[in-house]
Amino acid sequence: MELVDVIIIGGGPAGLNAAVVLGRCRRSVLLFDTESYRNKSSHGMHNYLTRDHVDPVEFIKICHEELKKYGVQRITKRIVNARKNDEGYFVAVDSEGNNYYSKKLLVATGLMDNLPKIPGFEKYYGKSIFHCPYCDGWEVRDKRIGVYARNKNGWELALALKGWTDKVVLYTDGKQTVKPSQMEQLMANDITVVTMPIERVEGNEHLETIVFKNGTTAPVDAIFFVNGFTQQCNLAEAFGCEMTNKGVVKANKMQQTNIEGLYVAGDAARDMHFVVVAAAEGAKAGVSINKELQHQVTMANVEKVAETAVVGI
Ligand SMILES: Cc1cc2nc3c(=O)[nH]c(=O)nc-3n(C[C@H](O)[C@H](O)[C@H](O)COP(=O)(O)OP(=O)(O)OC[C@H]3O[C@@H](n4cnc5c(N)ncnc54)[C@H](O)[C@@H]3O)c2cc1C
Repeated sequence: MELVDVIIIGGGPAGLNAAVVLGRCRRSVLLFDTESYRNKSSHGMHNYLTRDHVDPVEFIKICHEELKKYGVQRITKRIVNARKNDEGYFVAVDSEGNNYYSKKLLVATGLMDNLPKIPGFEKYYGKSIFHCPYCDGWEVRDKRIGVYARNKNGWELALALKGWTDKVVLYTDGKQTVKPSQMEQLMANDITVVTMPIERVEGNEHLETIVFKNGTTAPVDAIFFVNGFTQQCNLAEAFGCEMTNKGVVKANKMQQTNIEGLYVAGDAARDMHFVVVAAAEGAKAGVSINKELQHQVTMANVEKVAETAVVGI
């Protein structure tokens, strides 16, 4: 059985930054990744100094290059199961049934956005259709922005987007979700609410039109939607990690979960979904794991010396 110090599941910004920290600490690391990081289809990454508007694919490529010299082994495989064995080591099983063993485990498997099932949404996702104004609001400032929400959270996003443009319309796609007090706030801020069911969205390179089921249309330059998210995989939950009521894994300040030796970082763990935050959490997890491994070695040596002393007596 080959035993490594750390297995990292997930090679987005969180997993990769943990890998670089651990690699530099001279830890043996296996990093598994299926390369479907959340912002893969985005037109450019923002809110990360020195990497403004970088293509996320390019960003990940740079990370892979930088990791090479630190000896981290990157494996493009899906981990389908993780558990602890009788000796207390972690066992990760890939989709082909191969087992990998480690002293510590970091889950950095991220989230997926629940994309509304409307023709055209997927095509423009990350280019003209977004979920986060902090990530993409600047690029569509002063444009005609539609907010898509069939749930009760749309009105707040619509109001928030007034910081980026005056032209905001809330589309509820056949639902009546806005309460009278919320409608009052929307109207006072010049936000129209359109409840007609949507057939599709269309355009050329960029989004141009919302087509309703009744055949009418509305011009639009960008859409921000609120439709929730799902964990990319349920490994942490299946392992017994506590989850928050928002559907992410609970962790302490150093990214440690309720399972000893199991850490979590990035979108899978937090509510603030930024590359820089995911990377920072990865770094924290890396330091935390390294300290714990160091502590275990130190204590094992103390025990050994104590045993020798007893034998010597
Ligand atoms: C359209 C869009 C635009 C965005 N724009 C920005 C922006 O401009 N600025 C910003 O800061 N943030 C942006 N974000 C948010 C950002 O993408 C996330 O916060 C960030 O990717 C989180 O990093 P992560 O490492 O936690 O997860 P991810 O980047 O999602 O990486 C998780 C990785 O784990 C892998 N994985 C999952 N399950 C398994 C498994 N079982 N086995 C092996 N591998 C697995 C996946 O393939 C994936 O590569 C955007 C998001 C979207 C959707």
